[in-house]
Amino acid sequence: MDKKVSAVLDQLTLEQKAALVSGKNMWFTAAVDAVDISAIMMTDGPAGLRKQIPKGGETLSVNASVKAISYPSAALVASTFDRSLARDLGQHLGEEAQAENISLLLGPGVNIKRSPLGGRNFEYYSEDPLVAGEIGTAYINGLHDTGVGATVKHFAANNRENHRFTNSSDMDERTLREIYLAPFERIIKQAHPEAVMASYNKINGVLNVQNERLLTDILRQEWGFTGVVMSDWMAVADHVASLQAGLDLEMPGKGDASTSEIVDAVKAGTITDEQLDLSAGRVLAMVVSLLDKKSAQVPYDRGKHHEFARKLADGGIVLLQNKDHVLPLKSGKSVAFVGAMADQPRYQGSGSSHVTPDHVVSALEAAKQSDLDVQFASGYELSKTAIDEELEKQAIELAQHADQVVVFVGYRDDDESEGFDKTNLSLPENQTHLIQSLAQHVAHISVVLANGSVVEMPWRDQVDAIVETYLAGEAVGEATIDILTGHVNPSGKLAETFPVKLTDTPSYGTFDRSNEHERYHEGIFVGYRYYDLHRQAVAFPFGFGLSYTMFELSDLVIGDWQEDNLKVTVTVKNTGSVDGSAVPQLYISNLVSPVEKPVRELRQFDNVAISAGESKTVTFTLHARDFSWYDADSMTWQADNGLYEIAVGSSSRDLPLTKQLTIKHFASQPLVVNMDTYLNVLLANETTKSVLMQMFGEQLAQFTSQDDASAADQQMLFNTPLRALVAGGFPVTAVQAFIDQSNAALKK
Ligand code: BGC
Repeated sequence: MDKKVSAVLDQLTLEQKAALVSGKNMWFTAAVDAVDISAIMMTDGPAGLRKQIPKGGETLSVNASVKAISYPSAALVASTFDRSLARDLGQHLGEEAQAENISLLLGPGVNIKRSPLGGRNFEYYSEDPLVAGEIGTAYINGLHDTGVGATVKHFAANNRENHRFTNSSDMDERTLREIYLAPFERIIKQAHPEAVMASYNKINGVLNVQNERLLTDILRQEWGFTGVVMSDWMAVADHVASLQAGLDLEMPGKGDASTSEIVDAVKAGTITDEQLDLSAGRVLAMVVSLLDKKSAQVPYDRGKHHEFARKLADGGIVLLQNKDHVLPLKSGKSVAFVGAMADQPRYQGSGSSHVTPDHVVSALEAAKQSDLDVQFASGYELSKTAIDEELEKQAIELAQHADQVVVFVGYRDDDESEGFDKTNLSLPENQTHLIQSLAQHVAHISVVLANGSVVEMPWRDQVDAIVETYLAGEAVGEATIDILTGHVNPSGKLAETFPVKLTDTPSYGTFDRSNEHERYHEGIFVGYRYYDLHRQAVAFPFGFGLSYTMFELSDLVIGDWQEDNLKVTVTVKNTGSVDGSAVPQLYISNLVSPVEKPVRELRQFDNVAISAGESKTVTFTLHARDFSWYDADSMTWQADNGLYEIAVGSSSRDLPLTKQLTIKHFASQPLVVNMDTYLNVLLANETTKSVLMQMFGEQLAQFTSQDDASAADQQMLFNTPLRALVAGGFPVTAVQAFIDQSNAALKK
């Protein structure tokens, strides 16, 4: 512990220390007036500040907060595949936090999108741990640039909302490490956040807020985290047990009751003085350090921050389909905007990430500011799901008289939110019906989607263009028009797979079945790892997104290992006629592993702006960990020597450049021969093969040269352990001698 902090701690009474390990109220840590330490304020969140200031004793609704800029939600931020934009987001949020006297943000949320039904998917980045970890790191780096602290959440495996306070995420250790903990591990090691928020759920039956293995052994001892572990709001069931497990700060705290239960536990000896000092010291250290980094409360430029919200949305919006190049919209030709969402946009999710926006601009409003000649018909009523024939008829008439038609649809606030999961992936019936009816009367429809998470698109082939805006923040309209008109060339890529239908998804039929247990039966095969394993068709693959230009990838060069890194370079050329940004993605396939492996895994990506006609060389750096899998038996990361394939392309299903390589760089697991070792393992190792041939070469040759010994018989023999040879009559002394000689030879 820092000397300054321990000196302060020494001056505190038991009660003062106990008060520090709970929040003073919803948003503040406890102040310690006696030593002149003030409280700090924390606030959500990931997509904009939700600063709640209660007046008097008033309790505020989730949505009552000061006006702030509403930025795109995490799903869209991840689609930028752009670390620098994510860092800029952190900086903008940090500046706003400083202006509002907030020291710590409750974000980013980096949980894996396991099922597209997860109610909070809009608040999370990806189905892939690398994307979630890298974008989360960049966001935190940005916050840190401004002296504001970050809280990475929700730790861990918090992938559903229903029964979220008690449900247990049940999975094997390898899945936990490779998929669900991986983004957190990356962020802890790369970005050093001030706090980690322990989530509501259990893992394998143990509440996360009481899970010593998770909060202490893994987080602190293995990964080196030195900050504060706080609880998610009202997640603590037994404060004493939580503190013992390594949870430092109960939020929001129960006032005096929280303090006295800790004081009593220390007096009773259930909690030691050292344990309390550790947690109180960590909270104190965080508070002192963030108070030190506080800057003057200078108002931020809301106009500029709104412009950044637009730039971020521009970078994330994904062009999913564009038949016959119907987009960008042609100027000088009339356009029909159809669908209530053109006028009443959905741009943020509900729950604790909800922001009171500064200035929302709809697509219709933004279109009127542009040179587009736009007419509007609502086509459906946003608050309803029933088809309104009259509204549809008006929409069809309008569309029939327009040169270009854009339909605005999406999930409504009531369709997805924190606090509950979805039950289907369908748009409201009136919206689906509108698209399908329009398609019968007009050609060349473009659809603009607003949704926090995956939707089924049964009408996909009936429309020409599809633009995925996710939840794009308050500048949603301007950003949508930027993309529709080609003012901005789309470069967003999907950070999650869009399956054809819900029944295709890995956890279909089991997700959210039991209130108590969510069994992660698909293991490491989440998202594209599952679809690729099953060679399953998807609507739009992970990593996919179109552009108004074209990129050509060439010259895949794999270097030599330099200490722990391997450099891979590719050339990306913009072969079209407009400037744009490409997102080259590098996937690794392990072709040799003794354990089940995904067909390929994303291990690097970049986002590069390239002018029309220009080329750029992109360098990816890979490390041993990128080739590793988690071995639950030895509790270590293992990298196999042998054959790999490196593929680079523009999505998980478009990988034009591939090269195989044999890696001998890793420390291989030493082979130790015993009675359970198989003949084929012995034959695959040069050392043991030579001892085997020396000692039993004759017998083996006799067997393999028998007239009636088929190749299958040989294979069957080699797929036998040594002890079966003994059981079959081979002298045990001879086999034991072989084992001893082999092990001696292997040690040389
Ligand atoms: C959410 C957290 C949030 C907290 C405070 C909880 O319900 O799960 O993400 O930070 O509330 O608003």
